[in-house]
Amino acid sequence: AVAFGIDEALEKLGLNQINEGTSTGSNNFSSGEAIASYSPVDGALIGKVKTTTQADYEKVMTTATEAFTEWRKVPAPQRGEIVRQFGEKLRELKEPLGKLVSYEMGKSYQEGLGEVQEMIDICDFAVGLSRQLHGLTMHSERPGHRMYEQYHPLGIVGIISAFNFPVAVWAWNTALAWVCGDVCVWKPSEKTPMCGVACQNIIAEVLKENNLPEGISCLINGDYKVGEMMTNDNRVPLVSATGSIRMGKIVAQAVAARLGKSLLELGGNNAIIVTPDADIKMTVIGAVFGAVGTAGQRCTSTRRLIIHDSIYDQVKDAITDAYSQLRIGNPLDENNHVGPLIDTDAVSMYEAALVKAQEEGGKVLVPGGVLEGEGYSSGCYVKPAIVEAENSFQIVQEETFAPILYLMKYSGSVENAIALQNGVVQGLSSAIMTNNLREAERFLSAAGSDCGIANVNIGTSGAEIGGAFGGEKETGGGRESGSDAWKVYMRRQTNTINYTTELPLAQGIKFDL
Ligand code: NAD
Repeated sequence: AVAFGIDEALEKLGLNQINEGTSTGSNNFSSGEAIASYSPVDGALIGKVKTTTQADYEKVMTTATEAFTEWRKVPAPQRGEIVRQFGEKLRELKEPLGKLVSYEMGKSYQEGLGEVQEMIDICDFAVGLSRQLHGLTMHSERPGHRMYEQYHPLGIVGIISAFNFPVAVWAWNTALAWVCGDVCVWKPSEKTPMCGVACQNIIAEVLKENNLPEGISCLINGDYKVGEMMTNDNRVPLVSATGSIRMGKIVAQAVAARLGKSLLELGGNNAIIVTPDADIKMTVIGAVFGAVGTAGQRCTSTRRLIIHDSIYDQVKDAITDAYSQLRIGNPLDENNHVGPLIDTDAVSMYEAALVKAQEEGGKVLVPGGVLEGEGYSSGCYVKPAIVEAENSFQIVQEETFAPILYLMKYSGSVENAIALQNGVVQGLSSAIMTNNLREAERFLSAAGSDCGIANVNIGTSGAEIGGAFGGEKETGGGRESGSDAWKVYMRRQTNTINYTTELPLAQGIKFDL
């Protein structure tokens, strides 16, 4: 970890190199067995973080509950001021935090910095939002009555996050939840625990500087068993969970069984439709970045290219040619395009998917494979692969969290391409590359893409914080980040006030005493 300034970054984030769980925040409660975090970049031990036991969890809940009784009374714009200060701290620590994200998760340093930038952006958004948590005013049908609605905080928001966006997903949730008056308990992925402690250290300092209770932000560590403590807990009115569809189905049922709310951000199976009117150069950039960026480990990664048969060979050749120029290696070295997968389990799933695709009749256009030798000692580096496939293959229907791109043809009108694009259980991100207005509008219409995100002349990968982010069908239906996503973090109350000396009933009902 000496190279690329990792040690220095850890120091700036308040993490010792061999860390036994030194968060200054509420994580102090964690006393269980330590999780060791190894970097997929070079296989080195980054640090250790203690897990949360049931008894630790009870202490966290008490702290969070107490903090909420204070925090909900702080006016929303003042809560926004705390989020503003948090955003400032993130600006100061952008480089070390971006570096840790890159080193612990394996995405490129540029993408690590981008992830921290997203945190900063959502803080700015939330600061403005803190003065705009509007409800509506309605006209009462009863004379001398006033009716309006207001939004109140929910209480404790539980956040369960995935390894691939180890810091941004937390910020999308917390920045909004905090201005809404909620307190947050976060369980980061057990694959990226150091990122969790780093973030908790940053917010704990801001809270301390403002004499606010640390319980406004709590951290719990561990695997799904620690996540289950929250999903089964009545004291957590909202569980926001990001991860696989498998996890989402379990979490949704557990939370629904106690009639809690869940916000689910699950897997995608994102496609780009390439029509005869597409700009091929833009298509290649969008598709290649979408498929190999973050080594195919984004929920919005491009998995399928649905190409019109009249331009199929041209697009296929341009994309395979671009793949031959990809450089795979240490993501902290900006000359490389593709970094490692998160761990060797992910490598096995990638290999299994390639075998399955061929068994089902897929034709390999760009072969995959695991890289060995100098610079690849972690065993997590794989070659991005392209397979010609049918949408109906079982393996194509699944999300494999790795750089495998499936190419398929459509013929005739754009409706045929839309049917293929919609013909999967997931519904996160989708795109069409076309300069034909009619095709673009058909893709965006009610009869078009069934995804939460539908782009024209942009790939599927990534999104801006200003829009509501999330997807339909088995992607879970949740929306986070911009637009009016904040409403899920609050409870709505309808208030009617009678300023007369009469008590008229609604719907003209008579009740004389
Ligand atoms: P994962 O489902 O294995 O784990 C995600 C989180 O859920 C982890 O913190 C894990 O400990 C926890 N968890 C797992 N089972 C649980 C249970 N039964 N109860 C409570 N918590 C539980 O996912 P991963 O491998 O970390 O992440 C990759 C997946 O996340 C992909 O499917 C990807 O598409 C998805 N993802 C979706 C979005 C989105 O916004 N839609 C964003 C990022 C990642």
